[in-house]
Amino acid sequence: MQNIKDQQLIKHCSYINGSWHSSETNFTVTNPANGDVIAKVNNAGIAETEFAVTSAKSALKVWAAKSANERAALMRNWFNLMMQHQDDLARILTLEQGKPLAEAKGEISYGAAFIEWFAEEGKRVYGDTIPAPSSDKRIIVIKQAVGVVASITPWNFPNAMIARKAAAALAAGCTFVVRPAIQTPLSALAMAELAERAGIPKGVFNVVVGDNASGIGKVLTQHPDIAKFTFTGSTAVGQTLIAQCASTVKKVSMELGGNAPFIVFDDADIDAAVQGAIVSKYRNAGQTCVCTNRIFVQQGVLEQFTDKFVAAVAELSIGHGLIDGINIGPMISKAAVNKVNKLVADSVAAGAKIILGGKVHPAGENFYQPTVMTNVSNDMPIATNEIFGPVSPIISFTDEEHVLDMANDCEYGLASYFYSRDIGRIWRIAEALEYGMVGINDSIISNVAAPFGGIKQSGNGREGSKYGLDDYLEIKYLCMGGLDK
Ligand code: NAP
Repeated sequence: MQNIKDQQLIKHCSYINGSWHSSETNFTVTNPANGDVIAKVNNAGIAETEFAVTSAKSALKVWAAKSANERAALMRNWFNLMMQHQDDLARILTLEQGKPLAEAKGEISYGAAFIEWFAEEGKRVYGDTIPAPSSDKRIIVIKQAVGVVASITPWNFPNAMIARKAAAALAAGCTFVVRPAIQTPLSALAMAELAERAGIPKGVFNVVVGDNASGIGKVLTQHPDIAKFTFTGSTAVGQTLIAQCASTVKKVSMELGGNAPFIVFDDADIDAAVQGAIVSKYRNAGQTCVCTNRIFVQQGVLEQFTDKFVAAVAELSIGHGLIDGINIGPMISKAAVNKVNKLVADSVAAGAKIILGGKVHPAGENFYQPTVMTNVSNDMPIATNEIFGPVSPIISFTDEEHVLDMANDCEYGLASYFYSRDIGRIWRIAEALEYGMVGINDSIISNVAAPFGGIKQSGNGREGSKYGLDDYLEIKYLCMGGLDK
């Protein structure tokens, strides 16, 4: 942490109503690469969360009343500051989360891009006029900020998952309270420091850090002053939080787990498919919600794909994310490594074969070897669960119908990918995949301009793109009558 140039970015307590709130107890933040304690952070609880909600409520009137241009100017300051401090923010992110520094820098610019995008998109919140059924009436539709937005975010993208929500909320005129994951509070607090420097008024962006996830979560899902709740995390926790939101009928959006199929057809460009699978599987040590989870390869290219893929995976370098040239950092915790190890072992017991990796990596207890498995079937634990680790199960198939049945046979519906050069097949498969996002001959699908989100138990709502504001806006219908002479 001493190499962070701007030491003011390192904060140790919650940011509420424009000030930093200390408390008596702490929790520790550790570097997943080596277990070193990198910070002690003050533990906020229920009282602080309630204060954050009240502050966001007080700030709402003034923020919502600002013009879109005024909000955009402040958000652009925030975007500029994030980009100016990209190196420091990335370093903080790598230290608390583990991903390689180059990936962390990419996450900072990806997160900042949402602030820039929505600052502009906020200027395009158009209403509507609708022909009325009688001549004495006019029907007008306006869109207004939902109100106070509360949010809970995960550790795998400690900056971007907050930026993607906060940017849309603030641009729409909402105020925002976030509780980041306990493993990665420092990135969120650094964002708050920059929001303050950008001139975002007090109470508009609040960060509550504390280890009582369920207590804080109850406030954020049940407080009557919160109009909307947005969550990114696992489906299991999302289900609990949706239920908690029911008592006050909040508007809810959910970005939950995934189990992405990656399909390689006989007619695919195999080298492109291999590269696509490497990127979408091993980024962030396999810990992204859109990571490839099951690789389906058609019989005719099974051997060719597998040989090339294994050779490419064997080239990946593993180690501390701050070391130059590292491709894969640690997983977030020992528990995460154990979960992956068990999925691999249980699938081997069911008949799968490990052809590369399959063990904890000598770099440390949180590192797992990049692994490739064959002889896998779609009902093995490594295929039915979200792996969230650097393991690729390869499943062979013979025809389109069979692979579609297998790909869609799962409760998730977030990202999916396929490689083919047959235009008819491309349309058939793209339309038949039951997923919110489909990468066609491409595996890098997330960007600000595109609507990110899932169907089925992967959630609801979309983040980014021109659709991303919808979740933060209410439609109000104005009926003007008595207009005839
Ligand atoms: P998680 O266990 O669901 O945790 C996510 C967040 O929820 C953390 O901040 C966690 O707090 C908090 N939390 C846990 N239990 C809670 C409760 N009862 N009440 C309130 N908050 C609670 O998920 P994760 O393992 O950190 O993240 C990985 C999951 O997120 C994967 O399933 C992944 O696919 C999904 N994800 C989805 C997207 C998407 O856009 N669809 C993006 C990224 C990740 P603590 O930190 O204190 O545990």
